[in-house]
Amino acid sequence: MLDKRKFYINGKWVEPAEKNDFEVINPSNEDPFAIISLGSKKDTDNAVKSAKKAFETWKETSKEERLELLEKLLAVYKKRFGEMTEAISLEMGAPMDWSSNVQTASGQAHLEDFILRLKDFKFDEHFDQKSNNHIYYEPIGVCGLITPWNWPINQIALKVIPAFATGCTMILKPSEIAPISGMLFAEMIDEVGFPKGVFNLVNGDGEGVGTQISSHPDIDMVSFTGSTRAGRLISKNAAETIKRVCLELGGKGGNIVFADSYKDAVRDGIRNVMSNSGQSCDAPTRMLVEKSIYERAVDEAVDEANKIKVDQASKKGDHIGPVISKTQYDKIINLIESGISEGATLAAGGPELPNGLNKGYFIKPTIFTNVTNEMRIAKEEIFGPVLSIIPFENEDEAVNIVNDTSYGLGNYLQTEDKEKAHRVAKKLRSGCVYINGNAADAGTPFGGYRQSGNGREGGVWGLEEYLEVKTVTGWKD
Ligand code: NAD
Repeated sequence: MLDKRKFYINGKWVEPAEKNDFEVINPSNEDPFAIISLGSKKDTDNAVKSAKKAFETWKETSKEERLELLEKLLAVYKKRFGEMTEAISLEMGAPMDWSSNVQTASGQAHLEDFILRLKDFKFDEHFDQKSNNHIYYEPIGVCGLITPWNWPINQIALKVIPAFATGCTMILKPSEIAPISGMLFAEMIDEVGFPKGVFNLVNGDGEGVGTQISSHPDIDMVSFTGSTRAGRLISKNAAETIKRVCLELGGKGGNIVFADSYKDAVRDGIRNVMSNSGQSCDAPTRMLVEKSIYERAVDEAVDEANKIKVDQASKKGDHIGPVISKTQYDKIINLIESGISEGATLAAGGPELPNGLNKGYFIKPTIFTNVTNEMRIAKEEIFGPVLSIIPFENEDEAVNIVNDTSYGLGNYLQTEDKEKAHRVAKKLRSGCVYINGNAADAGTPFGGYRQSGNGREGGVWGLEEYLEVKTVTGWKD
């Protein structure tokens, strides 16, 4: 059993103020493998105090000084890449190849991209030639960073690195059910030797440390990635202190497959939704298929889903692993059962355990057909390997169905018709639209419309989230 009970506060690993042990479970076998502490108000206060003090000097550092430290962090990250891969695989059930090539790689990619963006970023500029006004971009201050378990290091990197880059100090609270990657990242930060107090880590749950961070009077901004439910509570708790609240929340992505799509559009859509065991905020979980190709699309979708293997996270290969926890497992099974009872057709998978697996939170890749947008499986974020297929008649109907949700994170569309692709992309109400399976490049903004949140992470937009903007008049060169 790993003993991970300490917190990282003011440049040191310290004992929690009060004993409150919490077991971290391996979702592949349901056994605890590590113990962490859930922090108390005293721990949060200590971390905030150290971040507040460190801000006084850290905010005065030059871009070059911060770049040098970030370059060192990148070198340490590359050196300890294998450890990060193992940590993520163990804590959240990502199969080793996926953990390495996608999950761990995302942390490195964000580090590399933010270094690049920071090099070109201007922290002040003149307003215009006729004016004597000057604009400054200044770090917002002490930031509370609250992250989820599904893309653990991806989400941490998207917050911690721009906070460092802009001269902010911070308290990170990783997900209590997958905290090991975040603690390893803290070890890397310690190894680099950032000034004490700039980065602090306190583990805890939402009710405890999460709420203390959201409502803390000495925290200037909360950046949160997680469920819409928690985002709502955080906004309410933050309201009293008028802190900036950046939210990256849930999704219910639509994937419009037009009759003139490229050959493997349906199969790619299935692979996309099932990857990470369906636990991605921008997963294309509602596949809308033009009626003229509906039968063929369903056959391909079922065939592809049945080809996807489910197995232990510790194994290499391109299978999918378990879902994160018993709570998530029960929620997903309940939603699969609701699909059956609401009259959708179960075309692949289902609520039984996959063959050969009788321990661990494993779920078969599941496909429902004949789904209507009113069913729970089409409305709610399932966060498991479950896809709904919905037929449509024409472009307008497809757009209406996709937009008929309270979310707006990532939508997808497949067509060889360039004009139609651009027209539909503009009509979809979401922060990202992926055409014909093309991925978003590093440095592009990521975030949601409506109840998927209000923030934009990545690239210059990700840096700007951590900055205040100041106008100074009477400026002389
Ligand atoms: P969650 O909301 O349960 O927990 C996320 C984090 O918030 C955890 O650290 C948790 O301890 C904390 N938390 C929970 N309640 C809180 C509260 N009341 N106050 C403060 N903190 C609180 O979400 P999860 O189950 O860990 O993650 C899955 C969710 O995250 C999904 O809804 C998914 O769509 C979303 N997500 C969104 C993005 C994005 O960029 N939009 C990316 C990844 C995941």
